[in-house]
Amino acid sequence: MFEDIRIVLINTSHPGNIGSAARAMKTMGLTDLVLVDPQNFDPANPPEVAVSMATGAVDIMSSATVVSTFEEAVSDVAIVMGASARNRHIPWPLMQPRAAAGKAIDVLKNKQKVALVFGRERTGLTNEELSMCQVHIHIPANEEFSSLNVASAVQVLSYEMRMAVLAHTGQLEADYSGDWGVSWDNELATQDDINGFIKHLETTLVDIEFLDPTNPRQLMPRLRRLFQRAVPDKIEINILRGILNMVKRNHDK
Ligand code: SAH
Repeated sequence: MFEDIRIVLINTSHPGNIGSAARAMKTMGLTDLVLVDPQNFDPANPPEVAVSMATGAVDIMSSATVVSTFEEAVSDVAIVMGASARNRHIPWPLMQPRAAAGKAIDVLKNKQKVALVFGRERTGLTNEELSMCQVHIHIPANEEFSSLNVASAVQVLSYEMRMAVLAHTGQLEADYSGDWGVSWDNELATQDDINGFIKHLETTLVDIEFLDPTNPRQLMPRLRRLFQRAVPDKIEINILRGILNMVKRNHDK
């Protein structure tokens, strides 16, 4: 299960934090690190400060995958969980780490991937990035000082994931039961599937003049939130796209 848990760091500015995050991951048995547009960092030749923070976890850091966009980092992932230090404008499904880890097990036991996404040191995740996550996780820290160092946040969430996996495999006594309420018979849609559907939906809504592209307001983020909250499987996405095709066909008649 550990191999299907991905840690994604977005646009990290301090390479030392990448080393610390690698160490945090390795202590908890995680190996899959993806870096989106990291600053001053090349995994093939990591800076000294990153190496010294990683200590014995240099292997995790050196085998990190570097990509340039959020979409690439999570394209093959079923559930994306964004770690956020703040509450944002549009309310989104918000979970505490333990509950989120329980839900993650439901996906991992079907051999699909879960990503935990962490934001920039200074500004965190953008609203657009947060809207690409099914769930937001907030570590319920001191309300007057709630922003953890990014690698510390990685440590806390990796620990919770580990505890949930241990509980699931009978190596821990704890109540980590948490599921989405269904046991899936079908593979979950990946982020690629969901993004393809959302684009298709947007085009259709423009075609039928429900969505005015010159004044889109919050329609697409709200629809995205709705469909992400539902955690659709691949067959459900195919059904929805089939409906859109039929809407278009009848509208064009
Ligand atoms: N000033 C930024 C904080 C960034 S801290 C902001 O307000 O968003 C860097 C990253 O660490 C965050 O983007 C988030 O992914 C993670 N993080 C820090 N504190 C956290 C908390 N209390 N709960 C969840 N994630 C947290």
